[in-house]
Amino acid sequence: MTKLIVVIEIAKGKITGITKECLTVAKKLSEDLGVDIEGVMLGHGINDLAVNATKYGIKKIYKVDDAQFAGINILYHTRTLEELVKQFSPPTIIMAGASLYGQEIIPRLAARFNSAIFASVTSLVLEGDNLVGIHPLFEEKLLGTMSADKNQMNFVTILGGNNPEAEIDESLSGEVTDFAPVISERDKRETFVEEKIAKVSVDITKAKLIIAGGRGVGGKEKFGIIHETAKTLGGEVGASRAAVDADWVPYDHEIGQTGKTITPDFYIGCGISGAIQHLVGMRNSKTIIAVNTDEEAPMLDVAHYAIIADLHEVLPELIKKL
Ligand SMILES: Cc1cc2nc3c(=O)[nH]c(=O)nc-3n(C[C@H](O)[C@H](O)[C@H](O)COP(=O)(O)OP(=O)(O)OC[C@H]3O[C@@H](n4cnc5c(N)ncnc54)[C@H](O)[C@@H]3O)c2cc1C
Repeated sequence: MTKLIVVIEIAKGKITGITKECLTVAKKLSEDLGVDIEGVMLGHGINDLAVNATKYGIKKIYKVDDAQFAGINILYHTRTLEELVKQFSPPTIIMAGASLYGQEIIPRLAARFNSAIFASVTSLVLEGDNLVGIHPLFEEKLLGTMSADKNQMNFVTILGGNNPEAEIDESLSGEVTDFAPVISERDKRETFVEEKIAKVSVDITKAKLIIAGGRGVGGKEKFGIIHETAKTLGGEVGASRAAVDADWVPYDHEIGQTGKTITPDFYIGCGISGAIQHLVGMRNSKTIIAVNTDEEAPMLDVAHYAIIADLHEVLPELIKKL
């Protein structure tokens, strides 16, 4: 029987959002395969977190709870996961989020097991005897399909921002079992020093409504209308890179290839042309509204609604109406 194991990533003492997205993909796959989801969690002082994680529908969690895992040392994590995975014979699927963590660990493991890897896929489903994953290519202009025999070892990273996060179900529970860390002298060639969490003023990836401004806003002071509209509508401020590069708004607000990927219920893009590098970060928003003076702007190709007008006329009117 296939083993389906999700590597549970922890940040700031919590299970990460990308892991929860992974669990959504794993849930559907577990139903199709007719198997339970299992998990592995590495850290220090993580017993309560592991017990809590079973409420996401994970039937068994292998917990590595050790002071040497208080910080993330990629070599320690890889080596210990390698020892754990060695216990399982194929078919086994090991899945993690395509975060910095997952992207370090999973390819190393796949190489150590000389196995297939589904790297940065947005989905993973069962089709006959194969696992099939979709991998966006060339800034999502193309969607590549990857396929591999389900009866072997398969390693997977799931790209964030494409699946809803799994939610806790208090009625669920599972087993938590300890697994001893394995660290060789060779793994000690890198030492974990300190984890510094970058100061983030806003997390636009979680917002339900984003009002984003671009070069068309016309200046730092003029960007005030974007902030005011966001406040009035109860949303967060987003921006194109042009607005960030001009220093009208901090980088935390940038949407796109070099910014954040967002999937809010509403995205309102004001004075943003819709360059591909911006679109890749927001085009999965549920409802897209464009406010632009140019009816030929590429943003209109992805927008559900468009207001062809000066944003400095539209937004004050909108605020007045609310
Ligand atoms: C490697 C690379 C990575 C990149 N990554 C990103 C990224 O992550 N995110 C990103 O956004 N960009 C990114 N870019 C930049 C991207 O290519 C565009 O240059 C940028 O998105 C343009 O920003 P903009 O739409 O605000 O400006 P513009 O393209 O100049 O568009 C301004 C728009 O405002 C409209 N407008 C003007 N005045 C008004 C008004 N008064 N009312 C309403 N509309 C008005 C105009 O009609 C126009 O459509 C990247 C580029 C490269 C090369």
